[in-house]
Amino acid sequence: MECRVLSIQSHVVRGYVGNKSATFPLQVLGFEVDSINSVQFSNHTGYAHWKGQVLTAEELNVLYEGIKLNNVNHYDYILTGYTRDTSFLETVVDIVQELKRLNPKLVYVCDPVMGDQGSMYVPENILPVYRDQVVAVADILTPNQFEAELLTGRTISTEKDALDVMELLHQMGPDTVVLTSTDLTSPHGDQFLVALGSQKMVRTDGSKSTQKIRIEMPKVDAVFVGTGDLFTAMLLAWSHHHPNDLKAACEKTVSVLHHVIKRTITYANEILQVCKPSFISGLGGWSQTIPQVKKLDVEVLSWRGYTWSAVVRLVGRTAKFSKTTEAAYEMAGPGKRPNPAQLELRMVQSKKDIEDPDIVVEATIL
Ligand code: ADP
Ligand code: PLP
Ligand code: ZN
Repeated sequence: MECRVLSIQSHVVRGYVGNKSATFPLQVLGFEVDSINSVQFSNHTGYAHWKGQVLTAEELNVLYEGIKLNNVNHYDYILTGYTRDTSFLETVVDIVQELKRLNPKLVYVCDPVMGDQGSMYVPENILPVYRDQVVAVADILTPNQFEAELLTGRTISTEKDALDVMELLHQMGPDTVVLTSTDLTSPHGDQFLVALGSQKMVRTDGSKSTQKIRIEMPKVDAVFVGTGDLFTAMLLAWSHHHPNDLKAACEKTVSVLHHVIKRTITYANEILQVCKPSFISGLGGWSQTIPQVKKLDVEVLSWRGYTWSAVVRLVGRTAKFSKTTEAAYEMAGPGKRPNPAQLELRMVQSKKDIEDPDIVVEATIL
């Protein structure tokens, strides 16, 4: 049975956000993905520089018209993420409504990307469009805590607040709501990130029920980009396979995220180790204290993660000087941590984990 997704998200030349974060994982899981690139940027906006083009609402309509003229506008899922423009988002709503008329079973998976940690990174006038038009046609909604607060006008300080907010969001439209990340403290301690989910279901006897879950995942001390987009794509895929079991769908989703993030941070730390130039320039002072070392040539023999302690061998080529010494050198300022390019998700390398994730996170039914 073919399952076709229309994914309207960002494209980046380098790296993994938006469609680059969603398409490959969905294809690996057997979905046909038709992608419309809402922007085409060189890279995500967390880099020092970024350049590119933005698709207008009219251009979105033109692409959709082409699909429609060929009568291939039949979809099982629509997936949307980061959007900055209100008229673009309104056009998305029109497309969703038309596609739902053509396929009443179509599922619209919406990540209402607006901001994080109390600040918006899209224009503020996008909020009323999400709140008053988009959420009403969404079936699966994946806001983070801040976005859920914006949409409902409530603040979340406790798990009870979060459950109430998810209930309000259900009343606005979607049967499935997942708060992908919150500031709530985990019963397992502050090393864990808490996500919450709620799904309305109709039992076989026609009665209604709600499954509410809490997911706790180990926090990694780095900022990843594209993880929200990967989360939403994987929730689409796994709730397709487990339509009435949010717990199972979220466990698989979060496990994929865990494997991808772990591979990404491991790789980022590895490339920092071979990233000698910045370390060597940090060691510049050494060449002054050891006069024989005219041309500083440092060989890093071993490394201990984040603290930048290393055993190094200094080789003075001009004089016959060689010395192995232990350096506990704290790099100051930037350069100590992986940069955005080094933290791009290791997506291709994670193919097997995406296809068949080892379940490493168990959700709690509330
Ligand atoms: P959003 O703000 O839209 O929730 P995030 O990218 O912050 O998006 O989080 C999405 C998911 O990515 C989380 O549910 C979690 O599974 C994973 N994730 C993101 N950042 C981290 C991190 N630093 N440590 C562990 N998991 C993370
Ligand atoms: N799209 C673009 C162009 C971006 O620059 C970003 C983040 O910088 C995103 C989407 C969203 O990324 P995330 O999944 O981390 O929310
Ligand atoms: Zn997000």
